[in-house]
Formats: sequence, structure tokens, C-alpha cells
Amino acid sequence: MVLNCRHVWDRISDYIDGTLDPEVRADVERHLAHCEICSAVLDSTRNIIILMADDRVFELPVDFSQRLHARLDAVLSSEAPDSA
Ligand SMILES: [Zn+2]
Repeated sequence: MVLNCRHVWDRISDYIDGTLDPEVRADVERHLAHCEICSAVLDSTRNIIILMADDRVFELPVDFSQRLHARLDAVLSSEAPDSA
């Protein structure tokens, strides 16, 4: 399966948690290898989780993924309208 950016974002928290199926994980890694946007999303998501882990708070804010997706939607619509 060829993933687009949206597929990767839907799976990125599971990817970080290590709960993805091995096949899906391999697909995500293949996408990340050539996609700067998703690599940046992965890095910033990891940083947020690391910051939270320091306070022993592992749950993301309720609206975190909504805000993340809204921001990514804005990036996509302005830079890559065909990949949505
Ligand atoms: Zn991507």
C-alpha cells in the first residue's frame, strides 16, 4: 500500500507508540524516508510527547490532533493540493 501524507498523519501517534502492524509501520517508514513534511510532523510530535513525558503526563491535549490536522490541512491546501 502506498501511503499519502494524510494516511501517515492518521497513524503517526501509533507509529510513535510502536503499536502499528509491522507491515503498516514499514509503509510509514518508506513514506517518511522521502517526505519532508511528514518527517517534520513526526519530529514535532515526538518533541511534544517528550516534553509531556518529562512531567509524567502521557496523554495529548484533547484538541492536539485536531489542531495538528487543521494546521496540516492548511499546509497541504497551500502547497500540495493534489495530494489530499
Ligand atoms: Zn508525507
